[in-house]
Amino acid sequence: MDTIDFRSDTVTWPTPAMRTAMAAAPVGDDVYGEDPTVTALETLAAERLGKEAGLFVSSGTQGNLIAALCHGQRGDEAIVGSDAHMFCWEAGGMATLGGITPLPLPTDDVGRMDLARVRASIRGDDPHWPRSRLILTENSSGGNQGAAIPPDYFEGIQAIAQAHDLKVHLDGARLFNATTALGCDPQAITRHVDSVSICLSKGLCAPVGAVLVGDRPFIHQARRTRKLLGGGMRQAGVLAAAGLIALDTMSQRLGEDHLQAQRLAQGLAQLPNLRVNPAQVQTNMVFFELGAAVTLSPGEIIERLQTNYGIRIGLYAGQTFRAVTHYWIQPDHVDALIAAMAAILTK
Ligand SMILES: *Cc1c(COP(=O)(O)O)cnc(C)c1O
Repeated sequence: MDTIDFRSDTVTWPTPAMRTAMAAAPVGDDVYGEDPTVTALETLAAERLGKEAGLFVSSGTQGNLIAALCHGQRGDEAIVGSDAHMFCWEAGGMATLGGITPLPLPTDDVGRMDLARVRASIRGDDPHWPRSRLILTENSSGGNQGAAIPPDYFEGIQAIAQAHDLKVHLDGARLFNATTALGCDPQAITRHVDSVSICLSKGLCAPVGAVLVGDRPFIHQARRTRKLLGGGMRQAGVLAAAGLIALDTMSQRLGEDHLQAQRLAQGLAQLPNLRVNPAQVQTNMVFFELGAAVTLSPGEIIERLQTNYGIRIGLYAGQTFRAVTHYWIQPDHVDALIAAMAAILTK
């Protein structure tokens, strides 16, 4: 990479192995169901996540939207964390296109809704009210510094959903980061939900794509909905070939990114005038803030990092910096960011 890019793990380029596999991938018309590489990816994702079937989609947002549109109808309501990606960062898709109203609930510092509050939010049958239909979950929790939520939360959500005949969707854009941090099999979590969407194009380095998994009737309907949204792709095997490597091998190495994130947090914590809590860093994201004595604005710091050191980091919610580690971030890049911050803050 030309610059050292910590803004997100979405900036990851495909690996050399991916480019080779993409060039050689057998392909066909996937709308006809004839692309063997896409089919292989869908099958592998379903197997890894313990579901009957999978669907290759263009993005995590599309996977989540399709799930909402398949589980719910106009006039339905979806219970969702107020900091969830599906509520905050997906252009209001389920309401805009599906007529499904989100019911945002507060979350704790790792992104969990209070189970008693979830239960109390489920509505009875009254013509005044939307119909409670869906509970939306997320793991790892992007709005909570990439926190990894253990399986027991999903077990609790599942029990509530089953008691009230609701569906549960998991936005697992970074599910493998969560399960790597927790040291558990993905199925320890996914068996408690009806559908899961995983991103291939973040820390897993594929250039494009996500996979949505669930039971066969759900995926059958999801295929139709993907077409409705203009997401039926033709010789998509060139993309799925990278996705296979993402799922097969790149999902196994995320611990390295977590280690670098921890090193970064520890290093930044040594600097005066920076607020960072290494104990909160569970996966590949480090959030930090400027101390009160710093006269430079966050924007000026970002500008200096980029111009003087070739390093990019993100600004989250206006004041908080976010640095994300990934495959293309080497240990010496972490050292470079710590040194650059030290130089900027002590000048
Ligand atoms: C990135 C992300 C998505 C959406 O993924 P895109 O591929 O960017 O559309 C959904 N949920 C979470 C938690 C994410 O981090």
